[in-house]
Amino acid sequence: MKNKECLNLLFSGFLLLVIGGCGDSSSETSDLISDEVSEVDDVEETTDEDTEEDQDSNWIINNINTSTYILDDNGDGVVEDVQSAETVTDRGIEYTYVLTNGIPKYDMTMTDKMVENLDDRPKAETDFVDGYTTVAAGDLVLFGQDIGYNSSSENCDDTGGAGYWPPGPGCPYQQSVEAYFIDTPTDLDDSEVCETGLNSIGLMVNGVAIFNWGDGMTYSTNQWYNLAPEAEQYDVDICAGHAANGLYHHHQYTSCLAELVGDEGDQHSPIYGFAADGYPLYGPYESAGELAVSGWKVRDYGASEAEGGCDTEGQRTCVLVDEYDLDAGVTEVEENGPDIGEDVTTLSDNVIAADNGYYYEDYYYADEEVTGAVLDEHNGHDTGDGKGYHYHITLTEDDDGTLSPSFPYQMGPRFKGELPDNSFATCDTSTDTVVGGFPAR
Ligand SMILES: [Zn+2]
Ligand SMILES: [Zn+2]
Repeated sequence: MKNKECLNLLFSGFLLLVIGGCGDSSSETSDLISDEVSEVDDVEETTDEDTEEDQDSNWIINNINTSTYILDDNGDGVVEDVQSAETVTDRGIEYTYVLTNGIPKYDMTMTDKMVENLDDRPKAETDFVDGYTTVAAGDLVLFGQDIGYNSSSENCDDTGGAGYWPPGPGCPYQQSVEAYFIDTPTDLDDSEVCETGLNSIGLMVNGVAIFNWGDGMTYSTNQWYNLAPEAEQYDVDICAGHAANGLYHHHQYTSCLAELVGDEGDQHSPIYGFAADGYPLYGPYESAGELAVSGWKVRDYGASEAEGGCDTEGQRTCVLVDEYDLDAGVTEVEENGPDIGEDVTTLSDNVIAADNGYYYEDYYYADEEVTGAVLDEHNGHDTGDGKGYHYHITLTEDDDGTLSPSFPYQMGPRFKGELPDNSFATCDTSTDTVVGGFPAR
């Protein structure tokens, strides 16, 4: 495995980051920042009050509350959530312009299940200073508060957060992010493809970065891409988030955000964030008690090649030519993936059974009718209910009511809409295997 350019970790375009620790590419980063600052001046605020409220009001605005545990360079608490969101017009096009520090206000009351999950970690003995978490059910835990972990030394001692994050990823710090979201998204043509990449692909309404399905790691060269919610399941905090080079982000659903936006699953979920193409990302519910359903399914490796399998039950011996079209058939791989259920060792040295659904290549878009709660290949739909086209966060519920992230988790692997010129995100054009070493994506 090899390193992808560090810049891919950073936001590009109009997002500004105060970011360090990026080795060789730090000079590129500062060029990027100075270029962008001058362009921002061209943007005018709109005076049309009627158009301002809709998108702007979805953001969790705060200029008063500061984080208790995550500190800025002066040692003061970072201002949490989003500092401003306003409609601006740039060359005749309306955008919502968002400013955030990237640090959320997550105050979580620990449940029995959460404490149990912490103490049941396979490496609890070394993950925690005492071998178990220092919090109990009923305790209120603030974002970044020490719950007994042996955290990484990266940022954690300087800018706070030691003890809140499991060993592996470093701690997040203030990001000073600016982002533009186009108010009226434009769909890509059928012939145009914009893959989400290993940088921010959107923002949650509390200013936290949205990352895609990947952690940037593969099992073999250019094949068998890890799914972050699987491979990094022991590398996230109690709010299912972690930092890459200081940038806090989510790859998946978190009940912490559900609580902030007041989603109780008793109606269509509210907006949790916005994708870089401007489309909103709603929570997991399509209606009361009904989860939105991903249109992606796991392959059956034992099935015939005509049906998207490899004729090798329990073995990953071929990949799909086109994960959006089973009829395109399968192709050989240089190196087989691990057998279904075989143990693999993650970056944080946790051993996880690579069940079917552990890798990106385990999935295909089933192309079923997009109706009701069923979503399209981008993990979105327009049901004609007035919301317009929107993405959903996807979960599945098992028999005992446990909710698990369901691929592609948030927006699909490809954006539905075009990325505007001033977007912080870029289409991913890389085909290389990426990254090695923490912080993972
Ligand atoms: Zn919906
Ligand atoms: Zn990540």
